[in-house]
Amino acid sequence: MQNNATILCDACFTKISESDITCDKCGYPLKGTPAAQKKFIANKNANEIDHYTYKKDLKISVRALYLAAAGCIITGVLQYGSDSDEELKFYALIVNLIFAFVFVALGAWIPKKPLSAILVGTMLYGGIQVLNLLYDPLTLTRNIIVKVAIVVVLIRGIVAGANIDKVKKELKIQ
Ligand SMILES: [Zn+2]
Repeated sequence: MQNNATILCDACFTKISESDITCDKCGYPLKGTPAAQKKFIANKNANEIDHYTYKKDLKISVRALYLAAAGCIITGVLQYGSDSDEELKFYALIVNLIFAFVFVALGAWIPKKPLSAILVGTMLYGGIQVLNLLYDPLTLTRNIIVKVAIVVVLIRGIVAGANIDKVKKELKIQ
């Protein structure tokens, strides 16, 4: 007599047939020893936690770069509104918009090369502040709270980027 009762895999809860030795979907050792089954589930859970932090870290570092982009746009617009030199303020706006675009592009690069993208972004942001300082020393203190906040977020992004690299290697995500 055939048993038509539905059996579910203990690890991924997909339907399996009683004769299967391992689950077709996740590889769970259906006929394995309890120790082997326990180990499989422990590994699976660890990977799921890694995937969770991976996604969270991706979001943190992408957001850090978008924030830097927003900072550039705001700086450009504020300079455009306050500078008296028509030509200079136009170029300041264009340069800031180009920087903003670069930060967005780095954000898009995060899933591929997380640590490199966030490091380049942080150095670029630092470089922009130095350029501004040379252009006008008074700009350093302008919106200092916003700048410090962006730097803090970028540093948090570097930590996240390093984590992503680590998890990528562990889980062999390309
Ligand atoms: Zn399964």
